Amino acid sequence: MTTVSPKQSPTATTDHLYDAIIIGSGIGGLVTATQLAAKGANVLVLERYIIPGGSAGYFERQGYRFDVGASMIFGFGSQGTTNLLTRALEAVETSLETIPDPVQIHYHLPNNLEVKVHREYEKFIQELINQFPHEAEGIRKFYDECWQVFNCLNSMELLSLEEPRYLTRVFFQHPFACLGLVKYLPQNVGDIARRYISDPALLKFIDIECYCWSVVPAEKTPMINAGMVFSDRHYGGINYPKGGVGQIAQKLVEGLEKKGSKIEYKARVKEIIIENNKAVGVRLADGREYRGKRIISNATRWDTFEKLLSVQKPKKEQKWQQRYQKSPSFLSLHLGVKSEIVPENSDCHHILLEEWEKMEEPEGTIFLSIPTLLDPSLAPEGCHIFHAFTPHWIDDWQGLSPQDYEQKKEETAAKVIQRLEKIFPGLEEGLDYQEVGTPRTHRRFLGRDDGTYGPIPQKKLMGLLAMPFNQTAISGLYCVGDSTFPGQGLNAVAFSGFACAHRVAVDLGL
Ligand SMILES: Cc1cc2nc3c(=O)[nH]c(=O)nc-3n(C[C@H](O)[C@H](O)[C@H](O)COP(=O)(O)OP(=O)(O)OC[C@H]3O[C@@H](n4cnc5c(N)ncnc54)[C@H](O)[C@@H]3O)c2cc1C
Repeated sequence: MTTVSPKQSPTATTDHLYDAIIIGSGIGGLVTATQLAAKGANVLVLERYIIPGGSAGYFERQGYRFDVGASMIFGFGSQGTTNLLTRALEAVETSLETIPDPVQIHYHLPNNLEVKVHREYEKFIQELINQFPHEAEGIRKFYDECWQVFNCLNSMELLSLEEPRYLTRVFFQHPFACLGLVKYLPQNVGDIARRYISDPALLKFIDIECYCWSVVPAEKTPMINAGMVFSDRHYGGINYPKGGVGQIAQKLVEGLEKKGSKIEYKARVKEIIIENNKAVGVRLADGREYRGKRIISNATRWDTFEKLLSVQKPKKEQKWQQRYQKSPSFLSLHLGVKSEIVPENSDCHHILLEEWEKMEEPEGTIFLSIPTLLDPSLAPEGCHIFHAFTPHWIDDWQGLSPQDYEQKKEETAAKVIQRLEKIFPGLEEGLDYQEVGTPRTHRRFLGRDDGTYGPIPQKKLMGLLAMPFNQTAISGLYCVGDSTFPGQGLNAVAFSGFACAHRVAVDLGL
């Protein structure tokens, strides 16, 4: 292994050749790392922040433990193959206690449409049919078709679709499931929903069912992802990790270290080193260098190809950027709230929208999670955590003086709280703590370009067909996380982590 000249930095370290270096410790990065470590690889994870998890991280203030982002967690089921978080932890001999959530979402929608998505499938279907009795048959047919997708996925091991031997094996083991998936891969939810449903209000409901995790309406949401989400919530269910969402990353790190691999914090990668057209290492902001046989970026594709590489953006990436754009970021309110204002039997997750036309607009849809209804230990006694967030573009937060920035935060937060009073009267009076994050906060602490939630189609695409897998046009460089197949969400990025580790392990001959 070559040594780098000391003039680059007094702290340059290149004496060790890692099997894989992973830039970022989001759930996508950590699942890749632990999967590789479990196969015997020597892995180094480099995280720019002080704790692991990225958008699945946490922070603590005055006795509250707030989830940074995700808190409606799929992937903790106990059966099938789509329980990828359970499986990722098991692979490094660890596990997490989780608390089952009886209702995935309580929707508060225009024209007083109130729907709860119960964990029990039949209860949810019946509740929706009660609202739209004339669409009873269409409702069943649409959601049943989602189950077809899920059943295909849930019958096979979910690994890299870029690995021909795996594809052959899985095809011979599950020919019908594979053909089923090939059929749905280019399809979007909107087309299938309209086959069965004609009531415009119900089609709007299907739109928000998609929007609340894909941040685009049904027309642009791939059927594969919807099949997963709309079925797994009733199969593996939504389960909250005891101790907060941050525990997932903490446990994965524990498992990684048990397997002899390493993570470094406050280690911001500034550049991916390319030699002879191949990714061979990384250079950190403090000048240190590390070398690896394979380099895996868990940063978004925008950050990876526009900030970490000095070579020209490959054509494949340029094409991808013509098809996908950055979704908006969020304005996040992390609130401590007195328990008196939360009635007994309240649900953990709520979606609030007053006008359908505003669903995709900034401050249109409000997402609210109250994780302390499932795990009270996250807040001081007598208090709850409210995490409310709503889409916002970074451009609306740039170029403000510190004073104007603070004032805008206060004013926008006050509007959100006022709207939430409809569900929880007395909320404003019951506030015990308030902290507001903007798209600038998401960009700064999560290291995501413009604070984006992830890629969304520029226009209607053919389902998931245009979403890239883990290999990139640069030899030795892979991507993992929400800007790779199959997209956003913790279980989805875990899928991408399993696939990435599989492809890299085959390439390394492990
Ligand atoms: C407000 C909000 C609510 C959400 N709610 C849910 C939910 O309820 N359920 C759900 O399943 N999903 C939810 N999501 C989505 C989910 O959190 C993300 O899709 C997922 O966590 C993304 O994981 P990732 O591995 O792709 O990347 P990230 O979580 O973005 O992690 C990337 C990591 O890489 C690090 N990094 C980046 N650049 C560098 C660098 N140059 N050097 C070193 N380290 C670097 C970052 O610091 C970060 O730790 C939510 C997201 C947000 C923002």
